[in-house]
Amino acid sequence: MKVFLFAVVAALLFGPLACAQDKVVHKLDYDVSGLNQGLVANRLTCDLQFHLTKDGNVTWETVVERLPKLREIFEPAGIQFRVASARLIEIPDAWHTHTPKRGDPPSNERTWFYPTPADMKPLAPATERVFKAVIGDKGPGAELSVHFISLRSVQTGWWERDSDGKWRYETAATGACSFPPYLFGKNMPARVRGVITLSSKRLSSRTFAHELGHKLINVSHEGVGKAPKGEQWGGDDLMIYGNGTRIPSGAKGRFQVERLKRSPFLYRTVAGKRQFNPPYREGGHYWDPVYRISADRALWAETRPKRTPRKSQGLKGALDSQAGPR
Ligand SMILES: [Zn+2]
Repeated sequence: MKVFLFAVVAALLFGPLACAQDKVVHKLDYDVSGLNQGLVANRLTCDLQFHLTKDGNVTWETVVERLPKLREIFEPAGIQFRVASARLIEIPDAWHTHTPKRGDPPSNERTWFYPTPADMKPLAPATERVFKAVIGDKGPGAELSVHFISLRSVQTGWWERDSDGKWRYETAATGACSFPPYLFGKNMPARVRGVITLSSKRLSSRTFAHELGHKLINVSHEGVGKAPKGEQWGGDDLMIYGNGTRIPSGAKGRFQVERLKRSPFLYRTVAGKRQFNPPYREGGHYWDPVYRISADRALWAETRPKRTPRKSQGLKGALDSQAGPR
């Protein structure tokens, strides 16, 4: 009887908690009505949705403070941001910690900063489930927004070739992680393709902009006169480490502005209706046909690798580690 009573009391006490522990609990919506003044019709626009978590490290006040400078960085390229929604949620504690899916070591020495569809990074199934649960199914437009989710611990991983020739898998914590299409391609279902995780308390406007650059420009760490590298520093460009905020254009600028303007996450509002850019045709790898502008012209600065083996560069820094841009 005592056991039975204990079970009843425990069920009463912990039953509702147990239910709450396997789902998203909505706590409140933040007021975004004052954040979208000054948006211009017919300008390329990206919708941002914020899913801050009760036990995460990022506050709504930080986000609001960072927005004006973030917008300034993208304004010269003709891009504006609309804060479509922002809410505070509570998620199970276990959902806050993410480790990458290791996958197989790169085959035939073919490790690239811009992988071909066959060499895309896998997305850990547990991470995909959490992203889907947090974003939910909000209908048209939700797939084409950038979703910022605050999670306490998100690791990235990459393969490095040891001096003895063996592959070694490395991991590092991230302050923010953009899960860019050029790395994940079709391994990231369209419904979660817009996710950027936020884990650091000290996120600057530039970090928000840099991570959005990975997502929207769809490039690694590269800039004017600088081919992609895992860790690359400089004073000017947004997409390398440092304080720069420039998004360069043309062949010298590795077509960054031009790629940005083709991002499927962007739309124009024409006669009251949103007209999105065409979607990725091959999952958004670096050479996706969405960046081809004619039979002999395309918005990429790297030649697509052929199937011939080549010495590995390693993948370190293909995603940002804790030591990444500030
Ligand atoms: Zn980066």
